[in-house]
Amino acid sequence: GKDDPYVLTYNDFGDDSGAARKGVKKTLEVDVVIGADGANSRVAKEIEAGDYEYAIAFQERMSIPEDKMNYYSERAEMYVGEDVSPDFYAWVFPKCDHVAVGTGTVVDKKGIQRYQQGIRERAKSRIAGGEILRVEAHPIPEHPRPWRVRDRATLIGDAAGYVTKCSGEGIYFAAKSGRMCAESIVERSEGGTRMVTDRDLYDYINKFDAKYGPTYFVLDALQKLFYTSDAARESFVDLCEERYVQQVTFDSYLYKTVQGNNPVGDVQLLGKTLSSLWKKNTSKPAPMRELV
Ligand SMILES: Cc1cc2nc3c(=O)[nH]c(=O)nc-3n(C[C@H](O)[C@H](O)[C@H](O)COP(=O)(O)OP(=O)(O)OC[C@H]3O[C@@H](n4cnc5c(N)ncnc54)[C@H](O)[C@@H]3O)c2cc1C
Repeated sequence: GKDDPYVLTYNDFGDDSGAARKGVKKTLEVDVVIGADGANSRVAKEIEAGDYEYAIAFQERMSIPEDKMNYYSERAEMYVGEDVSPDFYAWVFPKCDHVAVGTGTVVDKKGIQRYQQGIRERAKSRIAGGEILRVEAHPIPEHPRPWRVRDRATLIGDAAGYVTKCSGEGIYFAAKSGRMCAESIVERSEGGTRMVTDRDLYDYINKFDAKYGPTYFVLDALQKLFYTSDAARESFVDLCEERYVQQVTFDSYLYKTVQGNNPVGDVQLLGKTLSSLWKKNTSKPAPMRELV
């Protein structure tokens, strides 16, 4: 019935580890289900949450020689251009003792291998002698699913579709949405003494959307504006030279909401953006710079 508890079936692996572990089949009765099961969420399927457009992201984790690793000790790199992605960026990110070299695309998922070859080629001098440790490929949601609540079940993280455009950042929003969802449930169930309803779960959805909706909106607009042609990408690179842009970008990453509360700076930036876009769209691009 509608008010009956959910009965979940799962394998309890205890302290076992490794691929050969078997686990013990168990069941669990719960009032609410929170799907935190990633982009291919079974929970989302089960509650008919609907699909989202997604990007495919591909990355190779590589161990590179120590002198090359030193270069990345205080640096993460992004690369743009038709050769590495038609609508996103490619990256070399330091991961403690190795680097992740990857790229993503929405519009040409079939071409992902070619774009990966592109970033390898572009970053050649930085990753020469690298040894591939692991290859990862996974969908990245482009926007939230149409229905995130149904029958006392809800979704968080990639299952819900909370990755920001432009940066492709999803780890923070997965953790944050999980916390906000749990807080709403604790509060609305009065510490577990009252049965929650879908309306209570919408409390979390509304709070999350109110807090991060504008950030998603702005980053979506920026991605559309700057990632889709080489001329626009040149403008993007131009603007990144600006101290004000660097400050606003850094603060926005840090605080997870779009910063920039300096009206004079914002107006100057708008002017510079428009003139740069005009210039780059009406002139021949400079030849690709060689990495040093
Ligand atoms: C190549 C690549 C690079 C990325 N780089 C960044 C980055 O630099 N910074 C950033 O912030 N984000 C990045 N992201 C996005 C980020 O990885 C995700 O947004 C984030 O991991 C989402 O967390 P999650 O917990 O919602 O889902 P996931 O991390 O996908 O976790 C879901 C978990 O559920 C488990 N699961 C699924 N189904 C079941 C089931 N039926 N039963 C039991 N368990 C199940 C899975 O095994 C998995 O462990 C990247 C993504 C990709 C693909």
